[in-house]
Amino acid sequence: MAFMENSLLIKKPRIKQKRLSILTGSDLSIKRLALIEHDSGLNGPVVWLTACIHGDEVGGIAIVHEVLSFLRKNPLLRGKVFAFPILNAMAFEVGTRDIPITNEDLNRSFPGSMRGTVGERTAHKIFSTIVDTHPTLVLDLHNDWLRSIPYIILDSGKIESKESYKIAAKIGRKTNLPLVKEPFSQKSNELVNKTLVGNLLLNDIPALTLELGTSQIVDEKHVSLGVYIILEILKSLQMIDVNLKMPEEIKNNFSNKIYIYNDKPYFSQTGLIRYLAKPGQLILKGKPFASLYNVFGKLTETLFVENDSLILGHNDSSVGIPGNPVAAFAQVISS
Ligand SMILES: [Zn+2]
Repeated sequence: MAFMENSLLIKKPRIKQKRLSILTGSDLSIKRLALIEHDSGLNGPVVWLTACIHGDEVGGIAIVHEVLSFLRKNPLLRGKVFAFPILNAMAFEVGTRDIPITNEDLNRSFPGSMRGTVGERTAHKIFSTIVDTHPTLVLDLHNDWLRSIPYIILDSGKIESKESYKIAAKIGRKTNLPLVKEPFSQKSNELVNKTLVGNLLLNDIPALTLELGTSQIVDEKHVSLGVYIILEILKSLQMIDVNLKMPEEIKNNFSNKIYIYNDKPYFSQTGLIRYLAKPGQLILKGKPFASLYNVFGKLTETLFVENDSLILGHNDSSVGIPGNPVAAFAQVISS
């Protein structure tokens, strides 16, 4: 009898696909959230991959597909991997960041509400489904400007004292990607209360926001890099055991330092931007990074880096406008 009871506890590995309803349309079509589950059948860590919470950030979807394809060929040794490949399908289909019918930013709608707006209902479905699985780690995959390097966002403020935050930051540090902290402000505290990752951390679930390069298009270089990072994390959790080849972009890494995010200075007039430094370049304080030209091709203004900084990305538009970020920087603060 004891033998029978034990044998019943050993589950078979399985892969499941589910569709969770989120909204009924005017044509009675049902908008759904597609979920994939890889269950090793053995106890172990539970890792979530989520992508495309912003509809135009499509690269993460390919990363999820590649990781799951890898796991079909190299099944998990223990634990489970869950994935929402497209969190914001309505925005994905029309190529916008926000939910088109309400203009809501889904990643500012958490933890959500069952009876709230479209964004809040979707957020509630996402959040409750993830939390119910008692995750060990959630990796939320994003993409940034067209010309941006991969990096990890770390929230700042009250969240930093949470154990979940410390565990996530430690995992992030091992990836060798730059860890970029939002400068602390009342606004950054409020932001944490509305994002998926912020709400997971507040609920004691380690979670990271991975900015994995170019948005709008699938850049295969960034896909390979994202897949490598995620598989290395699964390996560190003893969920897989394979030797992976490190992509060149990480080998020539930016060092896994902690930086502070900054997008200033801005131009004081309009004109055409010409960049003097590339994403991924470390620029010392006082060095020029962009110039502005008027309609006659006359140089009207040059911008200089305010502190020693890594350039994270160039704006998608080369039109200089006062108040608009020209580039995003990771300002050096510690080694
Ligand atoms: Zn995003």
